[in-house]
Amino acid sequence: MSSKRKRILILGAGFGGLTAANLLRKNLPSSSEPVEHQITITDRKDYFMMGLVNLWILNGTRTLDDSKIALNRLENKGIRFLNGEVTAIDAVSKTVTIRGSSTLRLEYDYLVIALGSEFALEQVKGFLENGGFNLYDAEQVPKLREKILSLKRGRIAVCITSIPYKCPPAPYEASLLINDILVKNGTRDSIDIDIYTPTPIALPVAGAKVSQDVINLLNDSHINFHPLHKIKTVSNVKELEFENGKRVNHDLLIGIPPHKVPEVIRNSGLIKQGQNWINVDKFSLKTEYENVFAIGDVTEIKVNENTAIPKAGVFAEAQAKVVSQQIVDDIENDRGKRSSPRFDGKGFCFMEVGNKKAGYVAADFYNEQGPATLLEPPSEESYKKKIDFERSKLDEWLFL
Ligand SMILES: Cc1cc2nc3c(=O)[nH]c(=O)nc-3n(C[C@H](O)[C@H](O)[C@H](O)COP(=O)(O)OP(=O)(O)OC[C@H]3O[C@@H](n4cnc5c(N)ncnc54)[C@H](O)[C@@H]3O)c2cc1C
Repeated sequence: MSSKRKRILILGAGFGGLTAANLLRKNLPSSSEPVEHQITITDRKDYFMMGLVNLWILNGTRTLDDSKIALNRLENKGIRFLNGEVTAIDAVSKTVTIRGSSTLRLEYDYLVIALGSEFALEQVKGFLENGGFNLYDAEQVPKLREKILSLKRGRIAVCITSIPYKCPPAPYEASLLINDILVKNGTRDSIDIDIYTPTPIALPVAGAKVSQDVINLLNDSHINFHPLHKIKTVSNVKELEFENGKRVNHDLLIGIPPHKVPEVIRNSGLIKQGQNWINVDKFSLKTEYENVFAIGDVTEIKVNENTAIPKAGVFAEAQAKVVSQQIVDDIENDRGKRSSPRFDGKGFCFMEVGNKKAGYVAADFYNEQGPATLLEPPSEESYKKKIDFERSKLDEWLFL
């Protein structure tokens, strides 16, 4: 075991960061042993909430306030939590600057970057000024729900503004849940639901078959699907204009925002010209800098010319497992028990369809014959597994 105390710094306390922090704490010597390695995690937010909870706030099974879990619970586990904004990363001098109640310049021996993605709705002309809702901003979802409930007739437009965006099935899940809300509210017959996407099929990352399965689910609920519709502008008379020249009216606009890499990453030198996300080794998640790893939504891992690993929590989590094991192995290298963990490109998700049912999507992106995906038909069992998924992760990361 290394006799020198190591400092491991994790940026971002989301899916990837929380997994890494917990595994490192579990697998590195604890305070009862002679050397306690320091594990620090930082986030601008002081709470964690899973993205999928946005959909439960939308359909009224959750409230925003009940869903936020304080990140300072990590301290009970021997993980140092710093609440603040990461303002600079210098991978050459191995320092990170964090602005919180005071400004700290931290040195690290190992750095795990798990800062996710940021939204860029300002890129869609007129969206913010003309009352569009961002489905991915949890703070906006309670108001969005009220709007849906108060709408008596008209058109709801769900608009995927660009790709990549996180959790590719989420806009379709949201549309199916909105269908459910309207049916229960007695307004479905007088309200249309339309989904617009710039892509030619519903889920390019999942391929043609799964995309068709999704469209069949939408058809069953009379939700209109419009491929090859990239939004250009939102006007102040509730008109959407698309790049293909079409114009349509709407009464309520729900957007899946453009995603971009966090500003601090753009300024850190971790992104080369022509790249939009951090490039890492597809198996080890190493960046080109010594002892610097990047995981989750902040990365782009291409599996072929057209497909990259989707931005989803399960992949961030799987990558965090691989990275934390490498760090543990490196620190304990004189025990000679390196396990050479590799990210295997496998993941899954539960696609909620309303009426307390969910489909199950399984994916293998490193499959030798090309990415393989499958959608199992919706069932109550998969819905229950989705609920358990959130509970078990929260327990693992913040409670037990
Ligand atoms: C509606 C919706 C439904 C979803 N459903 C699923 C699902 O069913 N399954 C699934 O696997 N995934 C789902 N996702 C996607 C999932 O939430 C993300 O892919 C996942 O959170 C990515 O993990 P991450 O660790 O890379 O980043 P995040 O979890 O986004 O964490 C990044 C953290 O970094 C912090 N941060 C960023 N910049 C700074 C800075 N400069 N200073 C300090 N802190 C900073 C952020 O506050 C954030 O907490 C869903 C997402 C949404 C929006």
